[in-house]
Amino acid sequence: MKVTLLGTGAALIDPDRRHTSLTIQIGDAAYMIDAGTGATRAMIGAAINPLNVRALFLTHLHFDHTADLPVFVLGSWMSDRRGALPVYGPEGTREMCAHLFEGGAFDVDIRARAQYPQRQGNLEVLRPDVSIIQPGLIHEDDRVRVTALPVEHIPSEICRCYAFRFETDTKSVVFSGDTRALPEMVDFARGADLLIHEATFPEEAIAFRAKNGIGTYSHTSPLQLGEIARDAGVRQLVATHIGHWDSTNPIVRKLAAKHMPVEIMGPDLLDRVAADIRTNYDGPLQIARDGLTLYV
Ligand SMILES: [Zn+2]
Ligand SMILES: [Zn+2]
Repeated sequence: MKVTLLGTGAALIDPDRRHTSLTIQIGDAAYMIDAGTGATRAMIGAAINPLNVRALFLTHLHFDHTADLPVFVLGSWMSDRRGALPVYGPEGTREMCAHLFEGGAFDVDIRARAQYPQRQGNLEVLRPDVSIIQPGLIHEDDRVRVTALPVEHIPSEICRCYAFRFETDTKSVVFSGDTRALPEMVDFARGADLLIHEATFPEEAIAFRAKNGIGTYSHTSPLQLGEIARDAGVRQLVATHIGHWDSTNPIVRKLAAKHMPVEIMGPDLLDRVAADIRTNYDGPLQIARDGLTLYV
């Protein structure tokens, strides 16, 4: 399995980190998880053919995990993909797709391009084949089994959120999605060859957000992530969904001022977050960056 992190940032707009997306390649088959902004462009940049993507799996419907979906679908339509894209997502995914394409946000574009015969031959691409995720096994084919674990990040009456485990006969990769630290993750990630888990904010930023009412603080701190990775006995850990606290960009710092204590921001925090994770976990560890490729 080859894993490529296309985007590794949280929800603010950050010139150094795209929004969240990754691919898992097994032979000539690719699987896409989340579709944050820039994902399709990054995929092509990483020499992964979007037409080889067999299915898209959405952890939840925050825009930093979904906003590239129309780019991916419209780009695939123009690139002569055949067949509707299977999309696995929480309740709301079907409505989101219905509002995007024919009769939706991109209706004018679609009607303009569909005047040409070549573009009329694969209109089915604009109608993603949505399956609503239920906990447990959600997808199985000749390459991989995918199971979903409900996680806690957004109130579930607004959007259910999921982690995914991808398994072949010999290897396993787990992606947490966005979530607070969950005891259930330990069993779900047990023995994984690779755990890619969010570590959106260090402890003091989570405390800051809990106090200031700026947005969700249901995220996992580095100390908690180390405990999860240790208890699950994973073979390799990547911390991702980095909440911009490593940015030196003056605009990002300005725009982040209400989201976290800006005085702690900077690249040196990468070392401290890694050290916090290592307080509890002593296996192979990387802090994610866009384009990072891992083999298991
Ligand atoms: Zn997110
Ligand atoms: Zn989120």
